[in-house]
Amino acid sequence: MSILLWLLLAVLLFLIIKYQLYLFLTPEKRLPVLMYHHVLPVAENELTVTVENLDRQFALLKKNGYKTLFFNELNALKASEKKIIITFDDGYLNNKKNLLPLLEKYDFKATIFIATQLIEKNRDGIFMTFDEIRNLDKNLVEIGLHSHTHRNYEQLTPEEIHADLQKNMEVLEKNQIPFTKVLAYPYGRFPQTQEFFKIIKENKIEFALRIGNKINAFPRKNPYTLNRMDIKNSTTLSAFKWKIILGKLKLF
Ligand SMILES: [Zn+2]
Repeated sequence: MSILLWLLLAVLLFLIIKYQLYLFLTPEKRLPVLMYHHVLPVAENELTVTVENLDRQFALLKKNGYKTLFFNELNALKASEKKIIITFDDGYLNNKKNLLPLLEKYDFKATIFIATQLIEKNRDGIFMTFDEIRNLDKNLVEIGLHSHTHRNYEQLTPEEIHADLQKNMEVLEKNQIPFTKVLAYPYGRFPQTQEFFKIIKENKIEFALRIGNKINAFPRKNPYTLNRMDIKNSTTLSAFKWKIILGKLKLF
C-alpha cells in the first residue's frame, strides 16, 4: 500500500477513536446527554438558549428519530432506539414558562436538576417555587439532584458533601417532590477520589453527571462520571447537529 493510503487510514482511525464513532456500531449503547440552563425569548448570556433555537433543536432531534428518556428509565432499557437525555440545571422559572410548552409540542421529556437552597432563597424570583416544581407535569419532567448549597464539591470535605447531599434529598422529600437519584455536580466539578465515589454510592445515587462534552457509552463501569454536552446560546443549529454526533467539536 502506498504511504498515502496508510496515512489516510491512520487519520480515519484517529477520528473514529477521538469521536467514539465506533459507538454507532452499537446504537443501544450510545447515550448523548444535553445540558441547558435558561430558556428565554431573548438570550441574555451563554447559559441561555432562546425559545426559537430550542424549538429548532427539538425539531431536529424529532426529525432524526431520537427518543427522549428520563434517567429512571435507563436501567430498564433494552430497545436499540436512538435515545437522548435532555437536562436543565437549577430550576429556573423560565423553564416552566418556556420549556414545558416545547416538551408538550414535541412529546419530549426533560430532567430538571434542583439545588434546594437556591429554591429556598429564590433570589430575584428567578427560580420556580417548590409548589411549582411539584406541579410540573410528571410525564414531561423528571426531577434530579443538584446539591443543596450549589457549592463546588471539589472544595468540600467528604463530611460536608455527605451532609449537603442528604439535605438536598431531605428538602425535596419535605416538599413532597418525587425525584430520581441522579445528581448533576454543581459546576460539573467533583473530587476524582474513591472516597468521594463511596459517599455518592452510600447515598444510593444511581447516576451522576459532569460536563465533559462527550457522548456516553452506556452502561458504564463508573455511573458517576456520565458526560453532558453543554448547549450554549452561541451553539448554532449546525454545531448542534454535529455535537449530537461527535460530542466535542474541537479536534485538540
Ligand atoms: Zn447549577
